[in-house]
Amino acid sequence: MPRKVFAASVQHETHSFCITPTTLGDFQKTLYLRDAEVERAMRGTRGEWGAVFDLADEFGWTVVHPVASFAQPGGPVTTHAFEHFSEIILDALRKNLPFDGILLPMHGAMVVEDFDDAEGELLARIRKIVGPKVPIAMSLDVHANASVEMATHADIITTYRTTPHIDMYETCERAGRLLERAMKGEIRPKVHRAQGPVMFGIDEGRTVTHWGPMRDMMKKVAAAEAEIPGVLDIGVNAGFGWADTPFTGPTVLVNGDGSDPRYQALADDLIRLAWDQRGIYTIDFLPIAEGIRIAMEPRSGPGPLLIGDYTDNPGGGAHGDGTSFLKALLESKVEDAVVGHIADPESAKIGIDAGIGATVTLNLGGKTDPRFGGTPLKVTGKVLAIADGVYTRKGKYATGTVGTIGPSFLLDLGHVRVIVSSIKSQIDDREQFRMFGIEPEKVNVLLCKASNHFRADFEPMARKLIYIDSGGIVSRNFAQFPYRKVRRPIWPLDKVE
Ligand SMILES: [Zn+2]
Repeated sequence: MPRKVFAASVQHETHSFCITPTTLGDFQKTLYLRDAEVERAMRGTRGEWGAVFDLADEFGWTVVHPVASFAQPGGPVTTHAFEHFSEIILDALRKNLPFDGILLPMHGAMVVEDFDDAEGELLARIRKIVGPKVPIAMSLDVHANASVEMATHADIITTYRTTPHIDMYETCERAGRLLERAMKGEIRPKVHRAQGPVMFGIDEGRTVTHWGPMRDMMKKVAAAEAEIPGVLDIGVNAGFGWADTPFTGPTVLVNGDGSDPRYQALADDLIRLAWDQRGIYTIDFLPIAEGIRIAMEPRSGPGPLLIGDYTDNPGGGAHGDGTSFLKALLESKVEDAVVGHIADPESAKIGIDAGIGATVTLNLGGKTDPRFGGTPLKVTGKVLAIADGVYTRKGKYATGTVGTIGPSFLLDLGHVRVIVSSIKSQIDDREQFRMFGIEPEKVNVLLCKASNHFRADFEPMARKLIYIDSGGIVSRNFAQFPYRKVRRPIWPLDKVE
């Protein structure tokens, strides 16, 4: 009898201090696949689902996959949206019982209006239906805040080991292979979790440089997996510090076969390394004026000067409509700059309706929460190009998967061109520029509302990369946010002995 596996994904990274809630509509307009659509869109990609379908072929699984959905990081997910997904998942589960195993490619930092631990809650509900014996495997983003509930209800949890995340496929594949072994009765996996008094650490899991806390952690992980018998997989989660929950912060998840006190000891040992390295970062942010000064320097080589607008990165839950750096660019004499992109559906509609060649006057950006990252900018310029905003990723990040910035246009403001989009999204692939006829390799200064993932596709062709702090909400100045739920004392909010 072929084994029957249930798979579903609902992915969100929640910034508790983003004032716009994440609604069902946000999931529906970004990624919302049901039943057969999941396989049609995901088979053959390098995302997690690509691994699900390849493993199904290899092991002969029958897979029931009612939903795969994703919304851009943002404010807490509405209870309505969460319950919608929960119903789809639990319904499909009940209707198709029994299952031999469960495989869930999740993010792990989803906060719902009415409760803090969306993945833990979903796992508890699934566990209640399938009972204690059916193995449940989950794969997580390295920016997951992994709770005790997740580690209790799941038998297997694997985590991305790269940032930019270029191992989505491999992470889900590891979870799926362990699930196969558990279903066969070869192993009895259990997750051993450790967490320290830290809400932000391991350099956010960055592996793009050859040094840093995550690199050190991965060396220890490789050694432990090789040396300690029964260690099946070790997840190192950097956590997501902008989610205000009692379990926010880095965790280590040791997947061990059976019971052995060495598993928990190993998890405790590894999390101590995260504590020791809590203040070490591989990147720093420059003030806007310094960013402009560098942008004014003559070209020092081929490729653009790449500027990461880190604090207004929608990939971290920011609004992606901050204007402070654009304002500084317009006031400067920086030549041939492109801003990708300002999310402003109102302005996008005006430009698209006006059509290519038309001149439009806009109150651009800064509308969502003008306390952060700059207020609306009055600008007049020409509509250069229009696109539907849908793109297939060609770079190393989530290769082959489809993303969208919604109907959008390219605005000509003279020495600066701005992409005005209707959906907020981080810059993660050069295709986001190519759809407007821009060759990003040839631009002089390329501003990307992005922090990590864009480095996979952009950094190799850039002459230099810098980061600026434009005053957005993905800020390391955590003290400015009214945290209520994180455990205290916690670093860096408190002095921890
Ligand atoms: Zn992540």
